[in-house]
Amino acid sequence: MKIAILPGDGIGTEIVAEAVKVLKVLDLPFEMESALVGGAAYDAHGHPLPEATLKLAQAADAVLFGAVGDWKYDKLERQYRPEQAILGLRKHLGLFANFRPAICYEQLTHASSLKPELVAGLDILIIRELTGDISFGQPRGRRTAVDGHFPGAPEAFDTMRYSKPEIERIAHVAFQAARKRRGRVTSVDKANVLETFQFWKDVVTEVHAQYPDVALDHLYVDNAAMQLVKAPKAFDVIVTGNMFGDILSDEAAMLTGSIGMLPSASLDRNNKGLYEPSHGSAPDIAGKGIANPLATILSAAMMLRYSLQQPDAAARIEQAVQAVLAAGLRTGDIWSEGTQRVGTREMGDAVVAAITGKTITKT
Ligand code: NAD
Repeated sequence: MKIAILPGDGIGTEIVAEAVKVLKVLDLPFEMESALVGGAAYDAHGHPLPEATLKLAQAADAVLFGAVGDWKYDKLERQYRPEQAILGLRKHLGLFANFRPAICYEQLTHASSLKPELVAGLDILIIRELTGDISFGQPRGRRTAVDGHFPGAPEAFDTMRYSKPEIERIAHVAFQAARKRRGRVTSVDKANVLETFQFWKDVVTEVHAQYPDVALDHLYVDNAAMQLVKAPKAFDVIVTGNMFGDILSDEAAMLTGSIGMLPSASLDRNNKGLYEPSHGSAPDIAGKGIANPLATILSAAMMLRYSLQQPDAAARIEQAVQAVLAAGLRTGDIWSEGTQRVGTREMGDAVVAAITGKTITKT
């Protein structure tokens, strides 16, 4: 097995180093090879996703990705911006299913902006379709309006579209994921207003016939946004389109208190995937050694579970993370009175120690 390691920019290099440390201690038969991506790759090779990086990612069984981006690249032409590397990898690797779990650890319920009783024990999975919807639909662009409220005025437009096979494959992914969890899928749409999402709802309902053991309900996206803050534990798996998923997965992330705790995976049809923390490159804290590496370490656990068929090793990592939290260790983003503040490296070391059975410092 081969893992492509793409640390990227900002805190990416710091947090991925900790995840690699954790993977190494598991002593599993895989090879890891690193490459530049994002702004770091642009600086070195003039492109955020150089050919060699893409080849490495294509040849690997899984990709562990840090984060890309920095304000200093904001003025570059769009095709050279660091974030284009992610879009390029998604496209070239055929990654269409984005898994964003939102788990609220018992020790961190206070970090949520919701009441502890609403989030304690929260464990939901948002599955976002990644390749279609308004982000990629053609035509798009700017033109002079010929109709609408202001004919003759400059206007911009995008096209929302989904094909039946695109909806079918993400629906299958969601039903199969729910089977391994609590057996419930909520499909989120805007069928009351959008033709594309009436079609989405019809196709999801049709695919559901093949999964009689899984419960399915449908919510409009505005209601889903409300229910996520009103009663988030009522959800198990949420499946939705690219744009709604983008927004709802960040909302769900906030239920858990810290974006520094949230892993994610983007999978292709064969469960090959790209694994990354849900947060960005955090240029404001890069190089300070204070970033929380747990989202990346938990992304490595997801990688072991979904792409490398090592569920026991994945569980060992997840239990080690629980253990360091139970021992009171916290990076700044999740720190609270009475817990011990640690840096990125110390947090990684503590996870390694928990895996190898060594003592973790307790406050
Ligand atoms: P961000 O997620 O990088 O940071 C938001 C806030 O959360 C910051 O205050 C940051 O310090 C904090 N934060 C994030 N991760 C943390 C961690 N592990 N530990 C502690 N604190 C953490 O989002 P942003 O500031 O909007 O974006 C910064 C850059 O990242 C931009 O260039 C953006 O385009 C890029 N970005 C990249 C990805 C990606 O690589 N997948 C995703 C989102 C944003």
